This record gives sequence, structure tokens and C-alpha cells, in this order.
Amino acid sequence: MAGEPQADCLFCKIVAGEVPATVVRDTETTVAFRDINPQAPVHVLVIPKAHHRDAVTLATEAPQVAADVLREAGEVAALEKLAVSEGGPGTGYRVVFNTGTGAGQTVFHAHAHVLGGRGLDWPPG
Ligand code: 5GP
Ligand code: ZN
Repeated sequence: MAGEPQADCLFCKIVAGEVPATVVRDTETTVAFRDINPQAPVHVLVIPKAHHRDAVTLATEAPQVAADVLREAGEVAALEKLAVSEGGPGTGYRVVFNTGTGAGQTVFHAHAHVLGGRGLDWPPG
């Protein structure tokens, strides 16, 4: 059933506390933790506690939780002092949802990458 924990899912294990993670925020529906292989000075993953295979599937199956993930991305950015209002290099942030293996998705439990703390090229590589 949609949202049920999956025994073989790394991020479900992080939600369950079976795999350790450096948690920066924890809400009723989401967890935010530092990426193990950071691509920027700030690289935090925001995930729903429920299992959905990617962000768009999450938005279809549980739209309120998809909104929670996006709002939490903003809370993490504020916590990490990436507020867009400050302006200048290294402020602002990027929220990325890699979707599908061809686009770099390696963990099939929906997650937002929150990246910041350095200049971010556009378009990305
Ligand atoms: P994806 O490639 O699916 O968009 O993103 C998965 C992310 O999860 C990668 O950036 C990867 O570094 C991160 N990751 C993989 N395994 C672990 C882990 O065990 N702990 C943490 N904190 N991050 C992980
Ligand atoms: Zn999962």
C-alpha cells in the first residue's frame, strides 16, 4: 500500500532509526538529515517519513506531505542561513528532486536535496 515502510529501503531505515544519520530537523511527517557525500557546504536531504518512490509520486499519493517536504526545505535553508533575502554569492539555495536513474536518482524513497553555501551554476551539469 502507498506509504508503507519498505524493508529494503535505506531511507525507511533512517526513519526507523536503524541506520544512523545526522538529523537537522524532525517533524511529524518529515525528517531532514545531512547527505553522507555532500556536494556543497550545505547538503541536506528532506524526506517524507512514509515511503513513496519519488517526489512526483509523493505529490500524487500524499500531496499534503509533499508540501511539508517543500516547506521543510525552506526551514532547513533558514536554519543554515541561506535565506534568499541576504543576496550575494553563497546565499540562496537549490532544491533538487532527482527523478529516475537516468537523472541520478539512486535511492527510491522521495527526497529533496537542499544545496547551498557556494555559488551554484545554472544550468547544472
Ligand atoms: P539521489 O542520488 O537518489 O538523488 O540521492 C541520494 C542521496 O543519498 C545521495 O546524495 C547520497 O550521497 C545520499 N546517501 C546515500 N546513502 C546515504 C546514507 O547512508 N546516509 C546519508 N545521510 N545519505 C546517504
Ligand atoms: Zn523508503
